[in-house]
Amino acid sequence: MTTARYWLDRPAAPVVPVPRAADFPVEAVRRDFPILHREVDGAPLVWLDNGSTTQKPLTVVQALADFYLTCNSNVHRGAHALARRATDAYEGARAKVAAFLGAAGPEEVVFVRGTTEAVNLVAGSWGEAEVRAGDEILLTELEHHANIVPWQQLAKRRRATLKVVPVDPDGALDLGAFRALLSQRTALLAVTHASNVLGTVPPVREMVALAHRYGARVLVDGAQAVGHFPVDVRDLGADFYVLSGHKMFGPTGIGALYAKREVLAAMRPWQTGGNMIDRVTFGGSTFAGHPHRLEAGTGNIADAVGLGAAVDYLVGMDRDQAEAHERHLAGYACQALARVPGIRQFGAARDRIAVHSFLVGATDPVALAAHLDARGIAVRVGHHCAQPTLAAFGETVVLRASLAFYNTTDEVDALVGAVLEFLDGPVPGQTRPRR
Ligand code: PLP
Repeated sequence: MTTARYWLDRPAAPVVPVPRAADFPVEAVRRDFPILHREVDGAPLVWLDNGSTTQKPLTVVQALADFYLTCNSNVHRGAHALARRATDAYEGARAKVAAFLGAAGPEEVVFVRGTTEAVNLVAGSWGEAEVRAGDEILLTELEHHANIVPWQQLAKRRRATLKVVPVDPDGALDLGAFRALLSQRTALLAVTHASNVLGTVPPVREMVALAHRYGARVLVDGAQAVGHFPVDVRDLGADFYVLSGHKMFGPTGIGALYAKREVLAAMRPWQTGGNMIDRVTFGGSTFAGHPHRLEAGTGNIADAVGLGAAVDYLVGMDRDQAEAHERHLAGYACQALARVPGIRQFGAARDRIAVHSFLVGATDPVALAAHLDARGIAVRVGHHCAQPTLAAFGETVVLRASLAFYNTTDEVDALVGAVLEFLDGPVPGQTRPRR
């Protein structure tokens, strides 16, 4: 069980200067996302809940509509024009995701519902075959429940043991502890590429290299990473990399599992039925090669095509500029939030994304979130599916503002203004803060 070790009783001081504003055309980019221009109960929407899900550019919405309007069909099995077009679109999307991740080829990408399903797939297929009694599965205190519970269940079934790399008070991983925990018994390291609560980006490349020295496989949870910075799975050396389309400006219900070719080739089916077989008789069945062997039944074809459009959108923008803009936003947000009396900000690792979790004195975070909501400001409040991370800081509930490249410093000001307004009580005649 995780025990609380850190109580942040000081207002977190901004430790780094705000990086220079990037030359990123944020207003033009915002025009690609129609929902960002809507009002919520009379207030302009300020979407600061990107950690939960991101908004979709028009091109993604259009790709979904185009698919249904012009080439809807099942894939792989029809002897007609629409089946061929749908198959091309679906397999084309797989190739786009593979290139986006730097995979060796499309056959290293399995379509799944999202990160959660991808982790369950790896646990249920690779894990059942490869994890043995006495083995250890190494997790970190930064993990989302999706990268904890499937391993916990697997460890129970296989009589393996979970080990956990702790975080330090800044929310960075304790790498000394990580090295000490690695051993010949380590079968798997499962680590996030970006924390959804503290924003921490661990040194995954170095961690993968170290884990490989002990013969362990490594699964990297890229759910919060791929929308924020470019990823190259071969440069990272990861054996598995998992992601959700909806957190990278694509549709819900679609995601991807990347696995190295040789690892995938040895993985047995985890679900069986149509689409994943080679030959079936009542005496037995043989299975298709990968990745199809791991995709039983009709897949989420249209959303895969939508995910391909999201990839197109991301690779079509200057990602260095987008990243620089986000770094500026993160620094700006840390400093702006630090102006709130009694605020405690969680997460001050050197390498981080613009995820800002906080509490304000004894203020009820749920009431504060409701106040923000009434002003059109969408943040998330709760445990963020990372109860062990919060437990390390002695908390069970925090507010979280999570930013993306389409957010602005004005939106950060709106957030901080509304928090200050909540602390001051209602201002007569004013229903929402000035923007
Ligand atoms: N991993 C991380 C780091 C996440 O932030 C999330 C969702 O918030 C998940 C995994 C689970 O993603 P999904 O619900 O799309 O499967």
